[in-house]
Amino acid sequence: MGTPAKVYEGSHIWVEDPEAVWIDGKVVKIHGDEVEVETSDERMVTASISKTYPKDEEDPAEGFDDMTKLLYMHEPGVLHNLDIRYQVNKIYTYSGGILIAVNPFQRLPDLYDVKMMERYHRASFGELSPHVYAIGEAAFREMMIEGKSNSILVSGESGAGKTETTKMLMQYLAYLGGHKGGEGRSVEQQVLESNPVLEAFGNAKTVRNDNSSRFGKFVELQFDHQAKISGAAIRTYLLERSRVCQISDPERNYHCFYLLCAAREEEIKKYKLGHPQTFHYLNQSTCFALDDVDDAHDYLATRKAMDVVGISQEEQDSIFRIVASILHLGNVRFAKGEEIDSSVLEDEKSKFHLQTAAELLMCDSNALEDALLKRVMVTPEEVIRRCLDPDGAIVSRDGLAKTIYSRLFNWLVDKINLSIGQDPSSKSLIGILDIYGFESFKTNSFEQFCINFTNEKLQQHFNQHVFKMEQEEYTKEEIAWSYIDFVDNQDVLDLIEKKPGGIIALLDEACMFPKSTHETFAEKLYQTFKTNKRFIKPKLSRTEFAIAHYAGEVQYQCDQFLDKNKDYVVPEHQDLLTASECPFVVELFPPIPEETTKSSNKSSKFSSIGSRFKSQLQQLMETLNSTEPHYIRCVKPNTLFKPCIFQMENVMQQLRCGGVLEAIKINLSGYPTHKTFDEFFQRFSSLVPELEGDIDTKDASRMILEKMGIDGAQIGKTKIFLRAGQLATLDGHSALK
Ligand code: ATP
Ligand code: MG
Repeated sequence: MGTPAKVYEGSHIWVEDPEAVWIDGKVVKIHGDEVEVETSDERMVTASISKTYPKDEEDPAEGFDDMTKLLYMHEPGVLHNLDIRYQVNKIYTYSGGILIAVNPFQRLPDLYDVKMMERYHRASFGELSPHVYAIGEAAFREMMIEGKSNSILVSGESGAGKTETTKMLMQYLAYLGGHKGGEGRSVEQQVLESNPVLEAFGNAKTVRNDNSSRFGKFVELQFDHQAKISGAAIRTYLLERSRVCQISDPERNYHCFYLLCAAREEEIKKYKLGHPQTFHYLNQSTCFALDDVDDAHDYLATRKAMDVVGISQEEQDSIFRIVASILHLGNVRFAKGEEIDSSVLEDEKSKFHLQTAAELLMCDSNALEDALLKRVMVTPEEVIRRCLDPDGAIVSRDGLAKTIYSRLFNWLVDKINLSIGQDPSSKSLIGILDIYGFESFKTNSFEQFCINFTNEKLQQHFNQHVFKMEQEEYTKEEIAWSYIDFVDNQDVLDLIEKKPGGIIALLDEACMFPKSTHETFAEKLYQTFKTNKRFIKPKLSRTEFAIAHYAGEVQYQCDQFLDKNKDYVVPEHQDLLTASECPFVVELFPPIPEETTKSSNKSSKFSSIGSRFKSQLQQLMETLNSTEPHYIRCVKPNTLFKPCIFQMENVMQQLRCGGVLEAIKINLSGYPTHKTFDEFFQRFSSLVPELEGDIDTKDASRMILEKMGIDGAQIGKTKIFLRAGQLATLDGHSALK
């Protein structure tokens, strides 16, 4: 970053260090462009001056609660400040208007109780230490005073604390907008209890987080004219479907499966369950139990939460019956049949599980067997029955399990929304977004592609808010101002979503063309984006491509892109479940109206997950664009899930991905306060009592600045622009009058 180094012999500076990322030291000697430095761990190193940064000489013991108070604002300074604060359990720090929240990995006493909520509700922004409640309060006040909708965007990588932060925000807003004097199931209680329900079905242990959300979520709280919560809507995005059938060691499947296996004896008997180890969908990993989690307790807690959100006992029974059926389905195995490329159930055990799955789904077991083993092909001439080989049967079985599970999840979301209810007359909303952060793993597939697409969208929103809008305003007002470079990512978004010709559009085309393979799809990408700066074809691969995202380059494997993009329910599966005797199952698989079946032949039956996701995102962006945004950047201080450990390199990467440093820079070098001349004059007219009569407020504003000795502020065409702190100085003067 561009802070000029003030380096002289004896001065304290930061130098790059291969291990600590940045280490502080004292300059011993300067030779031309190089400095000799004695580091704080008593080593002598040489560094190029341009790669050193001056260090704030005195750190307050608890660091600075706002990054903009740092004397020297640069990467090492910001990191060091977060580190100092983290060591004394000050996990929150402002950076201008953004809240940075570093995961404490421990319950901090008294930080989130009602007393604390009360304190933040009384205080104005910045008066108390940074806190997630202060952001909730700011959003609430802005909504109340200006009648504007607000949104709070919580971001960060997996395990950084987004979901916990979101829950705290919801609790705070429920505290402010709640209906005092419990009336059983109030709107806010239902909203809060939707969390454990959605977590039971949509969260799982991953290597990054024991309670990782495998879906994105936007919660919209609606307020009435008395600022009471009068309704809410929950929107979810892209549940990870593959996890239902496939998990890697030491991760887990969705929590609900383990919860059910820990239910009371009678339920275990009813559903013919056993230890999770006995189920293929769970025993692909050796992790069954989680530290500090009691599945039996959580099972009951989930059922209680389901009561609160209005899911009846009968519905709950059906839900868990279906969860159990998926486990049994997973244990059905196949062997080669007598006919070529056909298969049969492998053994008696498989027959038992198939039978049980059919019983639980209340459908005919022969029909289930056929639906798993056979396909019906309808050509204009005839109807052909084709058998599946054992591998094909496994794909069929897993497809069925995934479809049932994702329909069940969507049902839960719809049901919760229905029972909480919407307030159509509400004009003010506060939306809270808890969505997956940027991902870059060893192997990245369609899921990472969609997740990173989301992050590109949100990054653009952030850019537009913090950078573009600010700079456009300066340009419009014709004030002198040097541009801050920020990487505009419109080109990446075009590459992904442009219609026609973007990656999603090409993927849809490939999915509709029966002869496509992942190789032909990759080839098409290579041809189309040969000269695109954001698209990279790896030298040695013919089925991979890379995108230069704003947060770094990510390489994607095409193998499963086509399959994963197809939201397609095999007609045999649809028919089977529509014919179920369980009304709940039929509700998940309602009969498809005849016209649709007739008109949608072959390829057109396919519906694209990528395109649907794209339009969901578009809708989300429209909602966000109509609100006043607030940002919370969650940071994961270490990969060990332990308190008090602050891994510099890790954190630095996260801050870079979140655009935090650039945002601080613009805040400092720009003009955080904008006021029209009229507003400004009205506020400070007491400072120029000598002005009387018909006054030009532009001239008057200029006079006020001169008289008060305010340097560096700028006069635009219609507005005055003040640097950080200048408004407070003027307020101080006018208070004295
Ligand atoms: P993912 O993207 O995987 O869903 P996430 O960002 O939502 O991750 P969380 O589930 O919110 O991460 O947090 C991970 C864990 O960190 C929590 O289960 C909790 O143990 C701990 N944690 C996060 N924030 C706090 C906090 N403010 N106080 C105490 N513990 C916290
Ligand atoms: Mg989460």
